[in-house]
Amino acid sequence: MTAMEGGAMTRKTALTGAPAPSVEDADAQPVLECEGLAVRYDAPGGRVARAVDGVNLRLRPGEILALAGESGCGKTTLARTLLGLERPSEGTVYFRGRPLGYRPRDLKAYRREAQLVLQDPSGALNPRHTVYEAVAEGLRIHGLHADERERVADALSRAGLRPAEKFFLAYPHELSGGQRQRVVIAGALVLDPSVIVADEPVASLDASVRGEILALLMRLRDELGLAALVVTHDLGLAWNIADRIAVMYLGRIVEYGEVDAVLTDPQHPYTRALVSILPGSPAAPQVLTGEPPDATAVPGGCRFHPRCPELRSGAADSAGAAGACRGTPLPVLGAGEAGVACHLRT
Ligand code: SF4
Repeated sequence: MTAMEGGAMTRKTALTGAPAPSVEDADAQPVLECEGLAVRYDAPGGRVARAVDGVNLRLRPGEILALAGESGCGKTTLARTLLGLERPSEGTVYFRGRPLGYRPRDLKAYRREAQLVLQDPSGALNPRHTVYEAVAEGLRIHGLHADERERVADALSRAGLRPAEKFFLAYPHELSGGQRQRVVIAGALVLDPSVIVADEPVASLDASVRGEILALLMRLRDELGLAALVVTHDLGLAWNIADRIAVMYLGRIVEYGEVDAVLTDPQHPYTRALVSILPGSPAAPQVLTGEPPDATAVPGGCRFHPRCPELRSGAADSAGAAGACRGTPLPVLGAGEAGVACHLRT
């Protein structure tokens, strides 16, 4: 049952059931940050896909930030760019306040600090490698040969596979889906990263083990102070795990803030529509109509206007905003504490 279904609006820590600590120091130097980030691709027919189109974002130490939105909104491209797996067309990624370098040696050093956890653990693991080899691989790539066995065992234990030695010689096909995802997470933890980027980390898992993996990510935040960016299309998941949330639509962040505030009182019509279809939501479900987002044909004015329920219902017209909705682009949101990009809210 999700927190929304239970009507309980207070998130819990993984370990104690006490309210999750807020991220203590909003002024702490962000572990990962981007400024004016844009990623464009050439598309068939001479068109240009604006997959990420001007994003400012901040991830602080020891916080989980959910990056949410429909598929195709650019969130995976944004996550890959933050990891240095894609080079931005414009803008800058900062790690601990320093611009990310793209020389091979810069990226190799960055790989130790920022680890990716993919959606499908079966695809992420080599079926011919044992659990031990899978987890040790990162250490070997980075030339960290000392205490390899202890480090592998420690990473497996931290990922909840105990006793670790029992799993050393297992192959991926001998494990459950949840255990395979724990091995992937152990492979990330073995390098003692500062940040994990998890792309739909439980989407391929049975409902019965999803909660366990989410609890593991929260425990890593609580125990290790690990920061995590969790990419998800599922606002219920964001509610259960994140400290803050950024909602993305067609390459832009349209709303962000503390997850409790955004999901209990969403301001942007897109966020409202997504929240309205969560199980247990008190709002009447709003099904978005209109063309699905297309990064090669970003509408003028507010990029959400062709699908906006407020515009369709006449509410934007009554508020005198309909002209701006259709014709005036919204400014890019800054990376502060909270924000919403909508002419009705400015
Ligand atoms: Fe809807 Fe207008 Fe707000 Fe865009 S700016 S989300 S079209 S009300």
